Amino acid sequence: MSRTIAHWAAGRSFEGASERTAPVTNPATGAVTGEVALASAADAQHVIDVAAAAAKAWGTTSLARRTQVLFAFRELLHARREELAEIITAEHGKVHSDALGEIARGLEVVEFACGIGHLLKGGHSEQASTGVDVHSKLEPLGVVGIISPFNFPAMVPMWFFPVAIAAGNTVVVKPSEKDPSSSLWLAELWREAGLPDGVFNVLQGDKEAVDALLDSPRVQAISFVGSTPIAEYVYERASKAGKRVQALGGAKNHMVVLPDADLDLAADAAVNAGYGSAGERCMAISVLVAVGAVADELVARIADRTRTLLIGDGSVAATSEGADGREADMGPLVTQAHRDKVASFIDSGEREGAKVVVDGRDVQARGGQDGFWLGPTLFDHVSPEMEIYREEIFGPVLSVVRVETYADAVELINANPYGNGTAVFTNDGGAARRFEADVEVGMIGVNVPIPVPVAYYSFGGWKRSLFGDTHAYGAEGVHFFTRRKVVTTRWIDPANRPEGGLELGFPRND
Ligand code: NAD
Repeated sequence: MSRTIAHWAAGRSFEGASERTAPVTNPATGAVTGEVALASAADAQHVIDVAAAAAKAWGTTSLARRTQVLFAFRELLHARREELAEIITAEHGKVHSDALGEIARGLEVVEFACGIGHLLKGGHSEQASTGVDVHSKLEPLGVVGIISPFNFPAMVPMWFFPVAIAAGNTVVVKPSEKDPSSSLWLAELWREAGLPDGVFNVLQGDKEAVDALLDSPRVQAISFVGSTPIAEYVYERASKAGKRVQALGGAKNHMVVLPDADLDLAADAAVNAGYGSAGERCMAISVLVAVGAVADELVARIADRTRTLLIGDGSVAATSEGADGREADMGPLVTQAHRDKVASFIDSGEREGAKVVVDGRDVQARGGQDGFWLGPTLFDHVSPEMEIYREEIFGPVLSVVRVETYADAVELINANPYGNGTAVFTNDGGAARRFEADVEVGMIGVNVPIPVPVAYYSFGGWKRSLFGDTHAYGAEGVHFFTRRKVVTTRWIDPANRPEGGLELGFPRND
């Protein structure tokens, strides 16, 4: 029987007044497992009102109390992460160990936010002018909206809400309608951790819910993650409504292999970063740039490894039933429509003359016959004019582009409209150092294929991978979710009373 996946506000779930719903599927079986509510504008208004009503009290709650709630949430999430991982696998399709990995990266941000007392310290200058002291302070914004994509239903909201809540804001999370249950589970966990009702809220829905958040004068800031066209739309509409916005978009990440690289390390990395989570990661490697003579050997080693991957249902139950108890390496794609779109890119690459080395359309998967299966696909001799190079495929498709020189590799990367992540594989420190300086990309790996920054740095790309100028979490996250005041104070020293008198000129500093 299919469940209704509802909204969450004021510490409880509610179905809302909208009649609209959308099916949620288990990608490994194709079965519909729930119907998610799609908010009307009135439902959205209700959730925003709840968040606004809670903002004043939470924003003035002591740092000690806020930190205690954060710590309690961290402990609960760590202890119960298996439950959340199962929810993620059941709606997204990524294998259980990968779902746990996603939670671990989200937990890092929660742990970072536990240090909020230190992060919210302002500055103080004594005797800035004679008898005058100055201090600065950081205050919360009020209500903030967090709109997330399907590919990290737990981690992406956790890039934002731990810092937003710790800083004293109240939040409305709008999850992807493809995998909406993780956010509800997190809402219950917050309640258990002692977060006051109304501070963490979940609004389910599609464009109508998003537009309500973007337009509401009660929402002060928007953190968005998703595809580039929607990121650009969200950035423009919310900025026009006077909000602070960070909108992270799509990607096309290149991994460069220089002639001196360790080819086994590079081949392992290409397979992990190209096919992990079925390529549905904004930091997945989708283009492998083979420099000089390494290409033949590298393609052969990647192909050998790719053929050993087990594709299947990555849930705990399927793993224990499956042959030899081995967990699948790669799960299904998120929906049938997305699977078909990725398969059509493979058709297009073949049509345009790229060489299909490993063909994922022939997949043998361990899982339901109606699952959204597509195997890992490796293309060689891809050129930048081909559709498979130009478009973000967001699936398990790795394209090898062969170039002659290091300079050609850098030119290729810098000509690309996206600038999320990139990596270089080499044993030459000087070359790696130069790469770091030369590429116009926000996150760079040196012999690391998926260089997602740790929580005390910040995550964000360049060019069409980010609209706005603030990256997620770390110091930039704290900056995004606070606004500053500077207070200039003069107290009269009773032992040394200055002469008063009128003076209409601009105050002098002396
Ligand atoms: P998406 O853009 O389709 O959806 C993202 C969010 O926007 C969802 O909550 C969705 O409900 C909402 N949305 C969709 N269409 C909308 C519309 N017309 N108007 C208003 N809101 C709308 O993205 P997706 O398919 O869920 O996620 C995959 C994309 O996200 C990929 O492009 C990937 O690169 C990107 N992504 C980027 C990062 C990053 O950090 N840069 C991280 C993860 C995912």
